[in-house]
Amino acid sequence: MEESNYHWADLAAEKVIEEFKGNKLFVCAAGITPSGTVHIGNFREVITVYLVSKALMDKGKKVRFIYSWDDYDRLRKIPKNLPKQELLKKYLGKPTVDTPDPYGCHKNYAEHLEKEFEKELPKVDIHPEFLYQSKKYRKCEYADQIKYVLSKRDEVKVILDKYREEKLEDDWFPLNVFCEKCGTDETKVTDYDGEYTIKYKCKCGYENSIDFRKKGIVKLPWRLDWGMRWEYEGVNFEPGGKEHSTPGGSRDTAKEIFEKLYPEKKVPIYMMYDYIIVKGIGGKMSSSLGNVINLKDALEIYEPSVLRWIFTSTRPNTEFAISFDMDVLKIYEDFDKCERIYFDKEEIKNEKERDKQKRIYELSCIKVPKKIPKQHTFRHLTTLLQIYEMDVDKTVKKFKIKNKERVICAKNWIEKYAPEELKFKVVGKVKAKITKEYKEALLELANRLEKKNYNEQELFNEFYEICNKFNLKNTEFFKAAYNVLINKDKGPRLAGFILAIGKNRVIKLLKQLK
Ligand SMILES: [Zn+2]
Repeated sequence: MEESNYHWADLAAEKVIEEFKGNKLFVCAAGITPSGTVHIGNFREVITVYLVSKALMDKGKKVRFIYSWDDYDRLRKIPKNLPKQELLKKYLGKPTVDTPDPYGCHKNYAEHLEKEFEKELPKVDIHPEFLYQSKKYRKCEYADQIKYVLSKRDEVKVILDKYREEKLEDDWFPLNVFCEKCGTDETKVTDYDGEYTIKYKCKCGYENSIDFRKKGIVKLPWRLDWGMRWEYEGVNFEPGGKEHSTPGGSRDTAKEIFEKLYPEKKVPIYMMYDYIIVKGIGGKMSSSLGNVINLKDALEIYEPSVLRWIFTSTRPNTEFAISFDMDVLKIYEDFDKCERIYFDKEEIKNEKERDKQKRIYELSCIKVPKKIPKQHTFRHLTTLLQIYEMDVDKTVKKFKIKNKERVICAKNWIEKYAPEELKFKVVGKVKAKITKEYKEALLELANRLEKKNYNEQELFNEFYEICNKFNLKNTEFFKAAYNVLINKDKGPRLAGFILAIGKNRVIKLLKQLK
């Protein structure tokens, strides 16, 4: 099949099947160090792996989707958004799993960040199997893997040195040790017996000799750890962020080392995923500054299926912006359009494009509905909500809306991110001063509204007729109407707006002009 009309997740799935022919089970992996808030950029990795797993399952394959928390990594730096900075500083160089939770609600720093994210993922119907590296290392689960890597020290060093300006020292060992006395990894391996025993010396002065089958205080450095796990878990697919994907970067090195150490095994299929920009939160998203948007924030304004759709409809290797500004309206519109295409309610000439859109919809929906749901545009919902004083239940009931989730998102969006120009409140008492000629025209409108039930188009036509009759400019007429209703010069499209407010409420307001 041609690449252009085929969804990227299906393409990746086919590559995986092709590369690992004969596999009964396919392992798809994601992972991250819980070093700071797990943000929406990190979510891209998870959903990328999820979609490829789903594509494999849709082809009838059995899949294991694993998510590794690298919580045995050292605390490198402290994100500025976290409380208790002084306390945390004392833990630099120690495993994140041994660092206290600055919020005080979890067992440790790592667990706080992990649980925060794990709690949100089911909301987008993503359920990986979580693995905790700290547990595995501490249980000495990788002792034999570590021994094997140590036996290949010279080969590993040659590869790593190729990408380093300063060569590794001759007595370097591919192993990090957490000191038993001070807990940091400011240590150096000083001897190795070729089996399971190493000697180490710490900056703090402590030294000891340990058997790493019995003491889980060692871990492999990152690029080696990565490949070791591909081998250990039998990983067939694992993407990586842009920062790992540069030539000679960590993915390249991990791959080269893997090929050297496990020549009989195949490297997992790779996919680079790009960064995500956040639009409309004021200021740039930055992990070190701590002003990040996480999955929870995104789900406050995007329904789960719509959020999934954003990622599903974009190739992982393209940078994109997730919006919190006016573009939110457009994103919902685009999702609704995709939904109409799926249900053949929207004409689309290009057959290949249509198939692609249908596949995107299928992959985005948590559950594909049997028939097209009644669509309420996000923009319209923001209007309805504001007419009903932001009361979700009232709005849902009044307009018989099935998709309450979207109404809640619209409410959150108005309250947190919507620009002022979009906000309004229907007045109880008319405050605006209206000139005599426009007063007359608006009272005429009140009369006509009393006499007839209009649909939107008819009412719209009526505005022009009234303007003609009184010889008024229609732009000024609209302006006057908005001033009466919401005390602003602009507002939602007037005809629909009047009908949504309810003509009786509008007539009452207009009659205050008498
Ligand atoms: Zn020490």
